[in-house]
Amino acid sequence: MNSPNKFRNEKEEMISLFRSRGIKDESVLSVMKKIERQLFVDEAFVPRSYEDCALPISNSQTISQPYTVAVMTELLQIKKGDKILEIGTGSGYQAAILAELGARVFTIERFSDLLTKARLVFAKLGYNIASKTGDGTIGWSEFAPFDGIIVTAAAPEIPEPLLKQLANSGKLIIPVGDLNSQNIIIVTNDNGEFVEKKIEGFKFVPLVGKLGWK
Ligand code: SAH
Repeated sequence: MNSPNKFRNEKEEMISLFRSRGIKDESVLSVMKKIERQLFVDEAFVPRSYEDCALPISNSQTISQPYTVAVMTELLQIKKGDKILEIGTGSGYQAAILAELGARVFTIERFSDLLTKARLVFAKLGYNIASKTGDGTIGWSEFAPFDGIIVTAAAPEIPEPLLKQLANSGKLIIPVGDLNSQNIIIVTNDNGEFVEKKIEGFKFVPLVGKLGWK
């Protein structure tokens, strides 16, 4: 049932939607066309794998909306070999996209059950992704600095350790706001000066941790 062509039309529609909404990076578009999102969703939601919406996974969490994944991935401007830290592994879908783009991926998830499942998919697809269960609001200092850090859960404010773990010219992409809606903040480390931009109007599950929601 997971034959590569099964969702060909749905995938093409998803990519057209991305283009119509302004995603231009061809490498992001081709990787998102290649990766089988149905491998990352729960069995019951497989038929809805390419709908442009978040879908439930275990532990009351969600796999993010595909368009949001495209926006955040494009913002990272990944080059092959970049070291990228993801906070919030969830299903593993975003991490797989980063790995497929040639990044060295490090990912942290709070729920060990979710990470166990995601690791099985990484192994099945042959991705070499470093992962651990823990609180990502403090980052992963052993492997810092990172060329990019992507937080896939909503933070009340930017956790300071993540800025400290950003390489020069590195980017932190993080949704910041209240529990109902957030803006995606893009912070660039310009020789120790942190320059911020924002894109308004997203909705993520909460980032829960020492420097997140309690
Ligand atoms: N990137 C995921 C999206 C999952 S939703 C995907 O592609 O499927 C966000 C995830 O962040 C959830 O799984 C949630 O458990 C996790 N999370 C929330 N707070 C966290 C924290 N402090 N550290 C690590 N993971 C966290």
